[in-house]
Amino acid sequence: MQPGEADFLPSFSAQALLDSLFAFVGVVTFDGILIEANQSALKVAGLQPSDVIGKPFHETYWWSYDPAVQAQLRLALARGQAGETSRYDAMVRVADERLIMIDFMLAPLCDAYGHVRYLIPSAIDVSERYSIQHEREFLLARERIARQMAEQAVRRVERLQVITSALSEAVTPLDVASVVVEEVRQTLEAQQVAMYVRRADGSALDVLQSASTSASDEPLPLTVPLDSTHPLGEILQTALPVFLVSQADREARYQSAALPPPLAADAHGLALLPLEIEGQVMGVCMVSFAEPRQFPQDERAFLWAIAVQCAQALQRARLYSTMQEAITMRDHFIAVASHDLRTPLTVLLGQAQLLDRRMQQAQLGEAFTRPIQAIVQQSQRLNRMLTALLDLSRIQTGQLVIEHAWFDLRRLAERIVAEVSPTLSQHTLELVAAPDPLPIFADELRIEEVIQNIISNAIKYSPAGGPILLTLEQRDEHLCLAISDQGIGIPLEAQPHLFEQFYRAANAQQSSFSGLGIGLYIVREIVQQHGGLIDFNSREGQGTTFTICLPLSDRN
Ligand code: ADP
Repeated sequence: MQPGEADFLPSFSAQALLDSLFAFVGVVTFDGILIEANQSALKVAGLQPSDVIGKPFHETYWWSYDPAVQAQLRLALARGQAGETSRYDAMVRVADERLIMIDFMLAPLCDAYGHVRYLIPSAIDVSERYSIQHEREFLLARERIARQMAEQAVRRVERLQVITSALSEAVTPLDVASVVVEEVRQTLEAQQVAMYVRRADGSALDVLQSASTSASDEPLPLTVPLDSTHPLGEILQTALPVFLVSQADREARYQSAALPPPLAADAHGLALLPLEIEGQVMGVCMVSFAEPRQFPQDERAFLWAIAVQCAQALQRARLYSTMQEAITMRDHFIAVASHDLRTPLTVLLGQAQLLDRRMQQAQLGEAFTRPIQAIVQQSQRLNRMLTALLDLSRIQTGQLVIEHAWFDLRRLAERIVAEVSPTLSQHTLELVAAPDPLPIFADELRIEEVIQNIISNAIKYSPAGGPILLTLEQRDEHLCLAISDQGIGIPLEAQPHLFEQFYRAANAQQSSFSGLGIGLYIVREIVQQHGGLIDFNSREGQGTTFTICLPLSDRN
């Protein structure tokens, strides 16, 4: 005996002996709960005692990767309860999702009366030997597991596609959160999922949406006040995800057993994902699991991809609501401004027209009448613009009223041509129509507005002058009116957008072609409210024809 050995031996515990064994050894209760496992068993799987001790043995990490492997173990447990020993080769999961082959034995441990009290699982790694002896089966089994994992990866990709398309339709931040929280919970069978967003002043995180699998779960806090020591605060600063495999892992990382909510829940596996956009973390997604979770590489990638998608969707939703607010403000401004500007303008126009008449009567000469006529013309132009803006806001608020009455469309067209023609110097305006009346039941003022609008566009967008034709004819159940010019035409890429509010084609955006880009929007709305159709045909540089067809209803 060496000096000192006598002192050493008595303190050498059975536990230390078990821990230093090369083999895996444990103790399982009669009911199948693992209550002891030696260090080798834990180390090879990268586990902490708290990850497996106190859990049903067949649900622990080594076995839970495959239901078939678990079923075989349950059979061995049942045989053990009946006093029988089982021994077979089993494939178990160890660290980094690797699989090894073990020579596994589960033996009953009886008390003095021969009653089974415990079951003793033990095993040694025989992967190497096995791979030589049973190379084929070993490879097949590995292949089967690899296939299962690949299938799982495919399911995740499919899930990701579903989430991506659901997110693309999410309009508000709450829509985004609801999609992410529910999909992640279902796909990963997580215990709790919550999405928190950072307050503008950075003082706290507010929950946007959360979901729990079990109703008995502690409710998550609605608000998490932030200080630099809070684990969620750390995520906001580093913008890096945190994956915690088990409670022990969590406590080791934060050096505290009492973590602040929402992390203090009795969760085991925990993923904290930053929602980052353009270097700014706007929130955190928390995913917790009732069991320890290794978070294999593909699962981390899956969660990470969802966090990226989620942050982008959140940003989109925020921009969308800002844009909606801006549009509402713009519409409100247009409605108020056009209404309020109209009253002084009407007075101004009336007075200018009066002055014009008096000057003409007094025969003061062109030096006096020309400036006042310019004032009248520009005031009339301003008036038309304000009328269009007022129409626009009426359309937006659903207040554009159409008042139907009988009138002769041919007579209306004739009158417009007669009024406009004298004002033209470079253009000719011609009506092409059969001499018969064309009665129609529609809003005459609004239809006049439509025709005037398209004619003035035809004039404006043919700066070199030329003929403008207004054709009227009956086609089946419609009265159709076409207005054609030989002007600048509409570029192909602009054509799909022509009836959008405030849209102007690139070749119209020159100072010589002034305009607001709302005329055609209003025209189409009026035509549609009559149950009619509007279309156009155009070639850039050659000219444009707009065609409007109004239905000859039963009343016509
Ligand atoms: P605005 O003329 O005030 O710009 P509109 O809504 O009446 O607005 O027309 C929208 C756009 O359609 C115009 O900016 C122009 O690009 C195009 N457009 C309309 N009519 C014609 C036309 N007869 N010839 C060429 N382009 C046209």
